[in-house]
Amino acid sequence: MSLATAFFNSGTWLVIRNLLFFFAAVIWVASLYWIYKDARRRIEDPWLVGMAVLVGVVVPYFGPFIYMLFRPPEYLDDVRERELEIKAMEDRLAKRDLHCPVCRSEVDASYLVCPICTTKLRQACTNCKAPLEALWQVCPFCETPVEPTAVSGLPTLEPRRRRRAE
Ligand SMILES: [Zn+2]
Ligand SMILES: [Zn+2]
Repeated sequence: MSLATAFFNSGTWLVIRNLLFFFAAVIWVASLYWIYKDARRRIEDPWLVGMAVLVGVVVPYFGPFIYMLFRPPEYLDDVRERELEIKAMEDRLAKRDLHCPVCRSEVDASYLVCPICTTKLRQACTNCKAPLEALWQVCPFCETPVEPTAVSGLPTLEPRRRRRAE
């Protein structure tokens, strides 16, 4: 019996082999858990998250690298945050588009009078004092009818037209 044969037949080799199997299994399970955690942060569809984990199950150890090639580049939180920022920016732009028809200064949709040139922009409801749109026939806040004579002659407040990209 050679030394090598004696070693592989010994109890020491069995212990080492079992430990190696154990660590291999632990690393494999850890890689699946990593894929699951990462996919949950990037992919909304639970079926696709399951598919990503399945890649790690079918292709042990190399699964995470295959997954990394195909995963979405951004976290869902970042995507949502960016969408919210864009929406807030659009809201700000839409508000900023309101201008006084006389002096072109920025005015708010709720202003009754232009604070710069004192041009009357809107009529206030006779009952609840809410600012009314020029076309409104009735106050939407308290249902008081708008007197039509008072509306005529007021300049209409129009959003400034955006130049089209050419
Ligand atoms: Zn003005
Ligand atoms: Zn009213």
